Amino acid sequence: MAFFWLFAFLVALLAVEVQFGFVKGQTFMKEWPHAAGISLVNYMDLKLLWPRTQVDLLEYTLQNSKRGDPVDVIQKIDDFCWKTPTMNVGDVKGKIVDAALESMGSSPKVVVEFGSYMGYSTLRLANLLRRTAPDAVLYSVDPNPLGHAVKTTMLDRAGLLGPKVSNELAFSGDVVKRLAEEGKKIDFLFLDHVKHLYAEDTQLAEKLGLFRPGQTIVVADNVISPGAPEYREWMLANKNYESTPHTTLLEYTKSTPDEVIVSKYLR
Ligand code: MG
Repeated sequence: MAFFWLFAFLVALLAVEVQFGFVKGQTFMKEWPHAAGISLVNYMDLKLLWPRTQVDLLEYTLQNSKRGDPVDVIQKIDDFCWKTPTMNVGDVKGKIVDAALESMGSSPKVVVEFGSYMGYSTLRLANLLRRTAPDAVLYSVDPNPLGHAVKTTMLDRAGLLGPKVSNELAFSGDVVKRLAEEGKKIDFLFLDHVKHLYAEDTQLAEKLGLFRPGQTIVVADNVISPGAPEYREWMLANKNYESTPHTTLLEYTKSTPDEVIVSKYLR
């Protein structure tokens, strides 16, 4: 009997997800059942399980961090997350992302991140850009409204809220199309959103002419855990990019393998 009700609950949840879903407008039905499974997990994670963690993390950070000090705000988030892991890029992989962006010096004008969640990577990227490329605008994209609110508060706490960070409560594919319509180019793209969209969004951006040959860098998190196998296979075999896979560990873990792929667009 319990199994029946669990099954009925999951079917009802799936129906709601299909109708009003978190991945609305994306490749939900096309990739059934793979995408549907991921969507359901995302739904349960982001709408049922994670909100308490998000509020706890925000409360801890606001109570313990120094106002206007991005390094301290980032440190306090890491302190919390080493005890209660969340899906930030984290302090270990964060250094790989930082190094890729820093290698571009002052040249980036448009930096984009997909899947900003609670804004941890947003803080890291915005803080680094303030030093290395102060004219750059960071487009921080995520369709989750609670994450958007937490991120905005974190940026305010760190003194990074302002015109150089464009908080986009939006789906990644829509932002790619909008940037193309506005005639913009992406200098640096950080992929940390729905894993099965990594390849699709990168291919769309490339097709719409958003990448600068010989300059644009694309960095993908979580290529092994939870995994973006389609992206990995496509990117590592792609002669239009020069890719470096970095073997590392899943955020806030000591033994779960993960990989970050840093790719430069050549042509
Ligand atoms: Mg990640």
